[in-house]
Amino acid sequence: DGGERVRVTVRLRPPSKAEQQRDDERPFIFLDTERNTVVLRRTGSFDAFTEFQFDGVLPSICQQVDVYNVAARPVVLDVLEGYNGTIMAYGQTGAGKTYTLSDKLACGGTSVEGIIPRSAAEIFARAEQDNENEYHVSMSYIQIYMEQIQDLLRPESSNMQIREGENGVYVSGVEEVAVKSAEDVMKLLLLGDRNRAFSFTKLNAHSSRSHAIVILTVERKAKCIPEPGSEVSDRPHSACSAGFLEGERVLVGKLFLVDLAGSERLKKSGSEGIRASEAMSVNLSLTCLGKCIGARADPNSTHVPFRDSKLTRLLQESLGGNAKTSLIINIAPCNDYIQESLSSLLFGSRAMKVATRAIINVEEEF
Ligand code: ADP
Repeated sequence: DGGERVRVTVRLRPPSKAEQQRDDERPFIFLDTERNTVVLRRTGSFDAFTEFQFDGVLPSICQQVDVYNVAARPVVLDVLEGYNGTIMAYGQTGAGKTYTLSDKLACGGTSVEGIIPRSAAEIFARAEQDNENEYHVSMSYIQIYMEQIQDLLRPESSNMQIREGENGVYVSGVEEVAVKSAEDVMKLLLLGDRNRAFSFTKLNAHSSRSHAIVILTVERKAKCIPEPGSEVSDRPHSACSAGFLEGERVLVGKLFLVDLAGSERLKKSGSEGIRASEAMSVNLSLTCLGKCIGARADPNSTHVPFRDSKLTRLLQESLGGNAKTSLIINIAPCNDYIQESLSSLLFGSRAMKVATRAIINVEEEF
């Protein structure tokens, strides 16, 4: 029935300098790129191995461009055809989610661009080459912190509401800024990141406790081609379409790029007040994300709890049907994190079973 599940890619980041200098015993994580498997060695009186299979596994030597090609490009190409798409990074804080999605910006210009700027570059390059269609691209940037949505492009905003309209679920009143180049996208990303950092400094909290979501909306419409002999004019597109191409359609594709909150569990002891509430809220939304994924994987499941968290409510169409979804599981190479890595790999392997169906979005006009 054209059903398609979430595609899951694991990315192992390289060890930091400090991690390299540590005299680790034998490694615990092995990647087999031929078979797309990750093997975890767990020690006890005997060694035990757990093997996970994914759609792709990317070892630490992988470059940003490889990650883009494997985990993002197919989704971006579908968005250009009018599908919804979601690319999300899951993993504990420090595992490489932001590096994978954003970077360059995140690191003051010395590192290499991640998926967001590369996706934008691809969209604009394709638009440039396409002689038959014209494109309109806009960007929103929001975060979900403690179950409240904030517009990162309008820092004074708070507690924005999710609504459902003819064209699906959206954040009511969110800023949608027209963008004309990958540079525009990077500037807005940087602006949003500054606002994000500022809001967390004010709260004396850390942004890893929130989900950051970039939404790129791509509208594509057949170019207006004047009939031979008619006057060529610069009339606005909507006026133009009436006279030339009957019944033309606007394809609308939305690309959600989601930097999920850190998946690490809080140590049981010693956290109270705001830190505990933050942890509970992150836990709730990631658990709900897992449940929605799990429910999709189970053909007998009748209830999918999309409404149980803001994140899943907003991503409903990418988890539930109207979209293509790529999940990147970021893991760190350090042996200390083996429990967190195991839990991330388990999350990813559950997602492998998701069946989503993709439907093309059609609107009348833009
Ligand atoms: P997260 O967003 O999951 O908290 P970050 O993306 O901030 O993690 O990564 C943690 C640190 O590791 C950062 O200093 C980042 O630059 C570095 N890092 C992550 N992934 C890579 C990679 N593939 N190559 C080089 N450095 C990386």
